[in-house]
Formats: sequence, structure tokens, C-alpha cells
Amino acid sequence: MKRQPTPPSLVFGPDGAPESATFGDVYFARGGGLAESEAVFLAGCGLPDAWAGQSRFTIGELGFGTGLNALAVWRAWRATRHQRPAGAVLHFFTVEAHPMSPEDTGRALAAFPEVSDLSAALLARWPAAAFGSQRLWFEADGFCLTVLVGDAEQLLAGLEGRFDAWFLDGFAPSCNPEMWSPALLARIAALSAPGARLATYSTAGHVRRNLQTVGFAVEKKPGFGAKRERLEARFSGEPIAAPRPPARLAVLGSGIAGASIAAAARRRGLDAIILDAAPDPGAGASGNPAALLMPRLDRAHTGLSRLFLAAYLFALDAYRGLGQEAFSPCGVIEIPRPGRAEALADLLADPPLPDALFAPHTEGALHRQAGLVRPAAALSALIGTTPVLYRAAVKSLHQQGPGWALFSNEGAVLAQSDAVVLANGPGLNQFDATRFLPIEWSRGQIEWGATTTPQSGPARAGGPYAAPFGDGVLFGATFDRLAALDPATPDAKSRQQNLESLNAIAPDWAQSLLLEPLASRASIRAAMPDRAPIAGPIPDASTASLGAPIDRLAGLYLLGGLGARGFLLAPLLGETVVSALMGETAPLDAEALAAIDPARFLLRALRRMPR
Ligand code: SAM
Repeated sequence: MKRQPTPPSLVFGPDGAPESATFGDVYFARGGGLAESEAVFLAGCGLPDAWAGQSRFTIGELGFGTGLNALAVWRAWRATRHQRPAGAVLHFFTVEAHPMSPEDTGRALAAFPEVSDLSAALLARWPAAAFGSQRLWFEADGFCLTVLVGDAEQLLAGLEGRFDAWFLDGFAPSCNPEMWSPALLARIAALSAPGARLATYSTAGHVRRNLQTVGFAVEKKPGFGAKRERLEARFSGEPIAAPRPPARLAVLGSGIAGASIAAAARRRGLDAIILDAAPDPGAGASGNPAALLMPRLDRAHTGLSRLFLAAYLFALDAYRGLGQEAFSPCGVIEIPRPGRAEALADLLADPPLPDALFAPHTEGALHRQAGLVRPAAALSALIGTTPVLYRAAVKSLHQQGPGWALFSNEGAVLAQSDAVVLANGPGLNQFDATRFLPIEWSRGQIEWGATTTPQSGPARAGGPYAAPFGDGVLFGATFDRLAALDPATPDAKSRQQNLESLNAIAPDWAQSLLLEPLASRASIRAAMPDRAPIAGPIPDASTASLGAPIDRLAGLYLLGGLGARGFLLAPLLGETVVSALMGETAPLDAEALAAIDPARFLLRALRRMPR
């Protein structure tokens, strides 16, 4: 399989409307477009009435195309904001096998001045031509767009969640039978909430019959424009109120993991508080003056490789949104580490990201949009107005009624909440509930100092990294065994190692570096033995047994094991954890979720136990 999706073969009609040469069908009705979206899909699903008063509503679409349906929905959601509770969120999930370029999309959407503000906002952050999940939050409107790039049937097979409405907008069944297959419709039924609505312009007999077979009651309605009829369908069962999401969340840790959780909570109007044992911000591994953001690209197409790709695209979008103080997209040259040259060449020969993001370079590869995160600015922007209790060392957690109470060493209650996310890095397995986690610690030291002439241009990474920083460069980081060295005090041997690495990956910078003064900082990272992070609900280790489903401790979640990739992984994993605790459809597929499930270590421990 190619690592990048095939672009659509577009033809623009004299009226500027796009048509697919491959499928021989139009993206939207000539002369209709927005009006068609509203008449067929919104009205067909009873919208906006169906979301009145709801704090959550989730729509699934087959065929993102130009995003016109998404814009129509967004506009209607905006216009009806007074009809719902504060913090309400509309999730719009859509699948697309052949993503359009922003240029072509801009051309197509130019015909709809009624939504020009929304289309401009969408086009400015248009999803990359890359497989997997790409989530864009439009926070001010409580609108969350998740574009899943790939084949509809495969993507829906990996999706978990409950959808309130569906827009079937593949090209006509006669041109594109895959988008209407019985298997796909059965999957749609499996993902539907009781009473979910479905709309399409197609009234093909087999579509109607297959929808009925999987549990939809189907009705023909007068069609839009030249089409005689359209279809409205309703899934069996009466709509039921979704379980109440938590109202108050406590987060342990104010590093990038905790800050990302806080940001995800705020997007959903969820009241959060952060507790940190440190006396002030930036005490842990997230407290370095700069952190490199670059992707981890894999040759394989696995749940984990999709997570890393999606995390990179989400992190780029998230840090860009925080402004120049928080992120400078200086670019990063990836110099292959020993033993990685072949893998990098293979990735460049069939790249998983478009040229605008990942390109060949004389020394390896250039990640054009990667760069340097400024943790202090990024964390403070992500934490925003979320209150932080410093010097609040949580010693234990106890279930109290439907929620949790967090206790200090002295037995004082530090916080009470409906849900808790443990995001306290190296201390993650200090609680009874998390003792089973085999966290591995390592010490990382970085250095920074002035150079004889100021440096600019892309950062350089080849295992160790170096980047232009202030009036010189910043470089590192070591991976030291913890037992050997004082965790936090800078060490002369580690400095020597960093200087040698700088000389290897950026000899010019090493030459011009002024050794006095040179600053160092060391901190502890936490990683898991399989080098995948842990994010999600915490399993109940006290009741777990092999061969039985694993129970979860209600309301208790964690995010950690990020190793040296905290700034890459945390934004999307924060979003994933908070979406789980709010009962939303995950932004990641089931295989990716399994790869980061903390319960995998409980299962491994149980398998090793004598029976
Ligand atoms: N809703 C779109 C809009 O608002 O512009 C129009 C969608 S257009 C009619 C159908 C879309 O389905 C195209 O963008 C096409 O690339 C996509 N598509 C076709 N086959 C697919 C498949 N098997 N999986 C995912 N997407 C597919």
C-alpha cells in the first residue's frame, strides 16, 4: 500500500463546480451546493432541531470532499448556540479516501460566499494529504472536525463510538458501490445511537433494502433540485439521554501531559483543576527552555504509526494556534541515526507525508514545518485559566461516592472531583491503582549557550539534536541511567557527551560555541518498556484475571510514558483521554487505542504470574 492517499482526479465545470473524473460524478449538485447540503443532509437528519438542548452531538459523514457539508453544519451549529448548554460540543467525523488540495477546495468553495468566513478558517488549517485521523478544533464555536483519511470501510471498522446522525455522501452507488456496501451500512448501524438519523440523496433500491436490513426505518422524501427523491432514515430504538459526563476533573501534573489535558477539558467546558507537587511551574521534564517537535515516521502501517502521525499533525496545529511565542517552525533536518539510513531512504521514496511537510535533504530528510516549542509559553497558554495548586503532593486517591478524593501525605483532602487524570510523569506508578505499571526512568540533560555568531536555519536531529536558540544553540539530550546520577543536578560527563554529539551532528555550531558560560538542565523522563505511551482509563488490577474482560476504575485515567516525545504526543493523547472520560468517539482507531492502553501491562503481568 502506498503511504500517502491518492489525490482525486478533479475536473472543474464551467460554473466552477468540481467533478471527479475517476468516479464520473459531481461533489455537489450543480447550482445547489450549500442549499443541497441543508435540504438533503441537515433537514434529512432533522437538524438543527435534533441537537436542540444537547450538550453533545456527533455526526458521521461518508465523503468529506470539499468540506461543504461540514461548513453547512458548522454554520447551523453556530446559529443555534442559544439553544444549548454552555460548553456543548458538536463532533463531525468524516472519511475521505482522496483528500483534495486546499487550492482546489478554495476554488470550489468560492461559490459559497455565505460561508466564506468559515471556509477561510477551515482552509487555513486544511488537513494534510496523509492517512489517518486529523482533528481540528474550532474552540470558540464548540465545533470539532475529525477527518479520517483512508478507505471508508476500513476506517469505520476501526472506529468506536455512538453517532447521532449520518450523512451518506459518497458518489452515487452506480459510480462508487464501495461507499454503499452492505458491510459499510452494517458498520454504520453498529456505530449508531438508538434513534440515530441518517440522510442521503440516493434512493437506490439496494441502499434502502440494506439500510432496512441493518435496522433503519427508511422513508423517501421529495428530492432537492433535479433529483426527484431523497432518503431519510431512523435507526431503531428511542433516543436515550447519554450518561452524564463528569462535571469536575482533577489533573495531577502541570507538565505538557497535564497542560494538554487541561486544554482538552477547557474545549469542552469541563471544570478542571491541576495539582502539582512542585513549588512552581516547569519543574519536570517539560521545564526545558526549548523542546524539539518533529514526527516519528514509521515504515509500517500500524496503530502506533498512525498514532504518531496523527499526533504530529495535531501537535503542529495546536502549537501554531498558540502563537510565535510558543512555537517557531524553523524546520528540522533529520540526519539518519546509525542503522536508520535505509529506513529513512525508504520513507522518502514513498513518503507518509506530503512534500510540504517531509522532503529529501542532502543530509537526510527535512521536516519543513517542524520546529522548536517554547515550553514555558506553550504550557501557560495550554493551561490558560485552569487553576493550578502548586506544592500539592498527592499521596493517595480514594473513591468517594461517585468520584474521587485526593489526599496529601498528612491525610488532608487536596481535591475532590468526579474524574481524575494522572499525568505526573515519573511518579505515575506511585499509587495503589497504578503500581502494576513497569515505568522506566531515564535522566536527560541538555545544554545551551552563545555562539560567536548568531545561528539560524533548521534544527538538526539524529538521535541527539541541536537547534538555534537565543544568541547561540541548544543541544542534547542524554539518556542516562537514573541510579548512576543525581536526577536533577547537571553532570560534567553528560555535558561532555552532549558536546561530542553536537560536534557530530552540527560541527559548525560546535566550533563557534562559547564554552563559557554554558547552561545545563537535567530532568527525568518516564517511558514504557515497549516504547509506546500509556493513555486511557486505568484498569482495576485488584479484580483482573486472564481470560475475563478487564474492569476499569470508574473516573480514573492516566496519560504518561511519553519518553522523549512528550511535546509530540501529549496534545493528541490529552484529547484522547478527555474524549474517553466525556464518553465521546475517540479521535484514534481501535488498534491505536489498544497500543496505548495501560491495561496491556496488567495483561502481561497476569500472563507471567504462576497459575
Ligand atoms: N460531502 C462532500 C462535500 O461536502 O463536498 C462531497 C463528497 S463527494 C460526493 C464523495 C467523496 O467520497 C469524494 O470526496 C470521494 O473522494 C470520497 N470517496 C469515494 N470513495 C471513497 C471510499 N471508498 N472511502 C472514503 N472516501 C471515498
